[in-house]
Amino acid sequence: MKKLIFATHNQNKLEEVRSVFPGFVIQSLAALKYTEEIEETEKTLTGNALLKARSVYAVFKTPVFADDSGLEVDALDGAPGVFSARYAGEDKNHDKNNEKLLKALRGITNRSAQFRTVIAYTDGKQELLFEGIVRGHIASQCSGTAGFGYDPLFIPEGYDKSFGLLAREIKLSLSHRSRAIAKLHEHLKHLT
Ligand code: IMP
Repeated sequence: MKKLIFATHNQNKLEEVRSVFPGFVIQSLAALKYTEEIEETEKTLTGNALLKARSVYAVFKTPVFADDSGLEVDALDGAPGVFSARYAGEDKNHDKNNEKLLKALRGITNRSAQFRTVIAYTDGKQELLFEGIVRGHIASQCSGTAGFGYDPLFIPEGYDKSFGLLAREIKLSLSHRSRAIAKLHEHLKHLT
């Protein structure tokens, strides 16, 4: 089976990807004893995803992919976007981020938003980018405890409940990350 490194320290993401990636052995950074935190210093999701994939490829010379995601709110010109994790400060607190977002949208009727993931893949010869998007809107208050991050505030299109309330399977079938991962898998399974 083909070997592929997923450049993440996030165990949940790793399991999510492994479950939808038949035909490949997905190696984790932990298994490779790569403990370094790669700082996300770029100003775009694409920039950060490429940065992570290239940094890990430089060490292991094995095909690798990395992801970066964010919430983009239309009325806020795409914010918090690439700064989603640290929207309310460097302590990366999800509750504080949600509070700040609700405050920023006070009095604003256009609450449409999207989650977007960019996956960067490199095998040393080619670099490829894959994007996944789920559209929806920001609720007027948090609800539910499922998922993480902005899930209690994000209501996906076609539903009337937040990702915080919807079943994990529903989120997995709709999510920005799942969509980007499906595109990556579709592409790689055709490569020899
Ligand atoms: P990451 O690049 O996947 O680590 O995502 C960066 C930040 O975007 C997270 O810390 C969350 O604030 C937000 N985010 C990304 N994906 C999701 C999601 O599926 N649900 C809720 N928040 C998310």
